Amino acid sequence: MSRLIKAVIDSQALRANLARIREYAPRARVMAVVKANAYGHGLVPTALALADADAFAVARVEEAVALRGAGIGRPIVLLEGVFNAAQLAEAAQLQLDVVVCDPAQIELLEGYSGAHRFLVWIKIDTGMNRLGFRPEEFPAAFDRLRALGPRLRELRLMTHLARADERGAALTQQQVARFHALTQGLGLTTSICNSAGTLTQSTPADWVRPGLALYGVSPFPGEDARSFGLTPVMTLESSVISTRRVPRGESVGYGGSWITQRDSYIAIVAAGYGDGLPWGLPSGTPVIVDGKRAALAGRVSMDMVAVDVTDNPAVHVGSRAVIWGPDLPVEEIARGARTIPYELLCAVSQRVALALR
Ligand SMILES: *Cc1c(COP(=O)(O)O)cnc(C)c1O
Repeated sequence: MSRLIKAVIDSQALRANLARIREYAPRARVMAVVKANAYGHGLVPTALALADADAFAVARVEEAVALRGAGIGRPIVLLEGVFNAAQLAEAAQLQLDVVVCDPAQIELLEGYSGAHRFLVWIKIDTGMNRLGFRPEEFPAAFDRLRALGPRLRELRLMTHLARADERGAALTQQQVARFHALTQGLGLTTSICNSAGTLTQSTPADWVRPGLALYGVSPFPGEDARSFGLTPVMTLESSVISTRRVPRGESVGYGGSWITQRDSYIAIVAAGYGDGLPWGLPSGTPVIVDGKRAALAGRVSMDMVAVDVTDNPAVHVGSRAVIWGPDLPVEEIARGARTIPYELLCAVSQRVALALR
């Protein structure tokens, strides 16, 4: 691989994280969430590495097309379902399981005349107020779907937690209680927890739906993935393409926003917002250059960043630079950038080479 910037994907870590998640939910099956290009880790290689997952979950039909095209035969769940008859036909052809969260999606199923018998996950809105049937709407939706009888293969029930990443949030308990009140006694398969809910063992259900935790990243602000026994999967790394000495008192980069406080040694690294780094990454953000932590100096450019490596004179053209990875958690970079690790991972652009290890 000749491209300088690459996202090195540790497939062994992916599998270890899946095994670790199973320890948190020993009786549940695992739907591995691989939407958004597997959170930037590469959809197909990630799914192939996680062949052990009980099912895969995606957000878009195209993502499912790619998985089936790669020979993935496991169940695939469309987390937001389908939005027109053409998508429903495609879902039938690819044997996708669909979430139904809106009356318009029930109508699509009622109008479906093909031979496929869908497995349908009914989504109940227990307090997220984003998708799903509100508790008072659920019985009617459930009856309508049940009326499809043998035209459906199975009905299952799910909800999504809004604040599972905040330990002790009252809303989580309320959501779980509402879900149980609506669904107990129906005898149907259920799913509630994302990564945060799974790691805090918020509530048992038949399936868990981890995304972020699979990638070895913590959904809890301020809590390290390693404290959950998870291993970071992605190392975003590049190379130093130039170095320079900049005398004290001069500015570096666009806008002159960073000024040397001493005679400085600056490394230019081939990684910029064109690769997915946030433009707003502040000066001082850690970057590992040639094995040592150094600090971002000045604004992120489209193709490059400058790093103050004054304390590491061994840095040279070709030195390896790590933007994030096992020794520099993406959670830490996200905090500094006032965002969440999800966004940083998903933003890794097409220009970055994915290298499976
Ligand atoms: C994305 C998504 C998940 C995974 O969330 P993580 O926080 O990454 O574990 C689970 N369920 C649904 C419905 C989702 O959309």
